[in-house]
Amino acid sequence: MTLLDELVALIAPPRCALCAAPGARAGELLCSGCRRALPWLGEPICARCALPLPHARRRCPAADAAFESACAAVAYEGAARHALLALKFSAARPLADVMAAQIAAAARPLLQPSATLVAVPADPRRRRARGFDPADLIAAALARRTGLPRAAALRRASSASRQLGASREVRRGGANLDFRPRGRPPEHVVLVDDVHTTGATLNACARALRHAGCRRIGAVSWARTLDDCPH
Ligand SMILES: [Zn+2]
Ligand SMILES: [Zn+2]
Repeated sequence: MTLLDELVALIAPPRCALCAAPGARAGELLCSGCRRALPWLGEPICARCALPLPHARRRCPAADAAFESACAAVAYEGAARHALLALKFSAARPLADVMAAQIAAAARPLLQPSATLVAVPADPRRRRARGFDPADLIAAALARRTGLPRAAALRRASSASRQLGASREVRRGGANLDFRPRGRPPEHVVLVDDVHTTGATLNACARALRHAGCRRIGAVSWARTLDDCPH
């Protein structure tokens, strides 16, 4: 902490990046209440799908996935849901920094020096409406924190253009998993997303990268839904 930081902390005590209450300790972005409220994922965790072990359905839902490993910091529940909503609606950079720090701590084995971070691109329509992309904010913060390079190696087709020819079911489901590589991808990619739900989105990204020549693919996300529905 520099002298300037100390002076600023004296005048305006740091506020929690999640609940805005004063009282976050120096060097920490969350107050102790929020840190306690987050549903941390404890060991043992499956290294392929990031779910706590043993698997409820016995079979790992990522057994056939195009990514080899996955990791998340918290379960997508309670305070973690609130934090992600706050990030989605406010582009709160301090919150993205908190999430990146927690991913960096939880996913250390995946974040090797050979890896390039690639954010899962949001649907272009959503990105335009929001003006930013939560996964991209987290990936940028994670790159700053780890020193790993970051590349926009994927693009996502617009759901609007796809829906012209899509079946009714696809339109209703709303899932747009049409990812395309941008040029030749790095050999070793770690995908970055805000939430890992069924894994279908990460898998679609990993498949597109693998087709384009990527050899090693991991996936990190801040939060993980705990129901391991098959995909
Ligand atoms: Zn707080
Ligand atoms: Zn698993």
